[in-house]
Amino acid sequence: MSKMIKTTDTDVKVDTTKILVVEIGTLSFELDERFPWIDVYLVGGESKEFVTQIDEENMPAIVEHEELIRYCLNWYFNNVEIIASEELERTAQEVPVQEQYKFISKCPICSYQNELITSKCVNPSFCMNCGVKTTYQSIPLL
Ligand SMILES: [Zn+2]
Repeated sequence: MSKMIKTTDTDVKVDTTKILVVEIGTLSFELDERFPWIDVYLVGGESKEFVTQIDEENMPAIVEHEELIRYCLNWYFNNVEIIASEELERTAQEVPVQEQYKFISKCPICSYQNELITSKCVNPSFCMNCGVKTTYQSIPLL
């Protein structure tokens, strides 16, 4: 019977590695300590689907969860567009203007003044500078 994987490597060397994982919403960010890049997966239920790889030239050296959280939150806010589900979209068609909210929060840990404008279904809850949980105040924009 033919085996699934063929190799010419006769040295069966066993090694281990650590992978830091941060989940934001339905996205899972995984950083293998052997590599400088971050793999992004879409997770839900029992499925895990590769989405993209973050491999920027100026990637900071990340060795702790906190650093990965901070990096991924920034990436998330810069790269993820939150759109309404089909049902919400249909409702939105009846509303002339898509409601936008300004979310503000002063971080209790690093005092960073978080500010972001987005639709109200986003509900941010982390400091974009240091990644700790913080409470946002939402102000509707006209
Ligand atoms: Zn902070």
